[in-house]
Amino acid sequence: MILPQPLLQDLRTVPGFDEASFINAHTIGALTSVRMHPIKGAGINIPGEKIPWCNNGIYLAERPVFTLDPAFHGGGYYVQEASSMFLEHIYKQVVPQTEGLRILDLCAAPGGKTTLLASLLTKDSLLISNEVIRSRASILEENALRWGYTNNWVTCNDPRDFTQLSGYFDVIVIDAPCSGSGLFRKDRKALEDWTEANVDLCSARQQRILADIWPSLKEGGIIIYATCSFSPQEDEEILDWIGDEYEAESVSVPISSDWGITATESPKRKMQGYRFFPGKTKGEGFFIAAIRKKEYTGSLRFQRSKPQNMSKIKAQAGYLLSDDTVQFIQPGKEISYNAIAAAHEADWFLLQKMFYFRKAGLPLGSPTAKEWLPAHDIALSIDASAQLSAIDVSRDQALKFLKREDMNLDNIQKGWHIIKYNNIGLGWIKSLQNRANNYLPKHWRIRMEIPDEDIT
Ligand code: SAM
Repeated sequence: MILPQPLLQDLRTVPGFDEASFINAHTIGALTSVRMHPIKGAGINIPGEKIPWCNNGIYLAERPVFTLDPAFHGGGYYVQEASSMFLEHIYKQVVPQTEGLRILDLCAAPGGKTTLLASLLTKDSLLISNEVIRSRASILEENALRWGYTNNWVTCNDPRDFTQLSGYFDVIVIDAPCSGSGLFRKDRKALEDWTEANVDLCSARQQRILADIWPSLKEGGIIIYATCSFSPQEDEEILDWIGDEYEAESVSVPISSDWGITATESPKRKMQGYRFFPGKTKGEGFFIAAIRKKEYTGSLRFQRSKPQNMSKIKAQAGYLLSDDTVQFIQPGKEISYNAIAAAHEADWFLLQKMFYFRKAGLPLGSPTAKEWLPAHDIALSIDASAQLSAIDVSRDQALKFLKREDMNLDNIQKGWHIIKYNNIGLGWIKSLQNRANNYLPKHWRIRMEIPDEDIT
């Protein structure tokens, strides 16, 4: 791999950069790692080496075909690059572990950081995951649904739409769009597309995003800023830009010397950041920093709204949930309903007027003349009632279900059942007198041909 000379030149100015090991690391392929779901992952055993900065992170010896593992489809784990999982360490160190926090993951698709954050929060905290590009917001929505947290909502808005939420968030994670040099080992196209002009463009865009979002952070709140670029213009220089523009202080975290992470400082204001250089750290290229806001820029007034009477819906759909303290909402014009934590009702009334929601709380489905039509989301939710009928199936049957093929299940009681693999919900079937209908959404279907050796 021929690395861009201007990038290497810039990196020679970064303390701790070891050019020989960096170049050598780029002759080797990227590592594969996964992060287990803290609840759903309990019954799965994936062998591998533990990632030291993330509780549930594992390096795999080789890359399997994830599509052929039903646990992957059910959200038993998320395939995520190891350096990115450092977010867990930084979050635990800098965010006070109080309850009821409001967290924004601003650039969230496809959902790696979001699923990690969702696993770290208390139930009464609210995680808004946003993605501005519509097609990518759909992928984010799907991954959030798969991960199964009711307190993770998904929006599709431009960062400037958040400016109006004065002082609303306790934590904002900005995993910024960047020039992508940290991904050269994973993505050949990132190398082909890399130019100095694009680094400058990305740097200007990162400043714009930060300026848009700054008013919505509380005084004392934390921004966690990250890129997968090695360029100082997108990393340390952005920290200096924040320090120049706003009243902000850098927050440092302890790191173990065994991790091979390079602590760096911005040249002008000496703000701390953490660099991941392949060759020094077991992971791909990454930069992350935490910044505390030290100024008051306004706060929002919540208007009280009168909630709709949802007692009929509660009586019809309440059986789907393990927790009956939730609120029921009708998020759109269609006759379908969602559950949100009671603590988030005021947030819903406020945000629904301002944002394009892809997912608010847990979609429950809709009533028909005869019964409740349960949403796919319930089958994958960690808040589904344990009383719902479930059928635990073999891997072969699970793959058939995920291909929307006939599963040949015999003697099943009439009605709705969740298909589970290793106790992980995959979706619904409805059993009639003599056949079962597969309710896996069509676009969730595995399209790949499954090789014979994988069907035992
Ligand atoms: N956080 C994600 C994860 O862990 O899976 C990865 C995010 S990726 C590095 C950056 C995201 O920013 C992309 O999804 C991209 O579509 C989005 N993006 C692109 N332009 C943007 C802009 N102007 N404002 C905000 N986000 C943008």
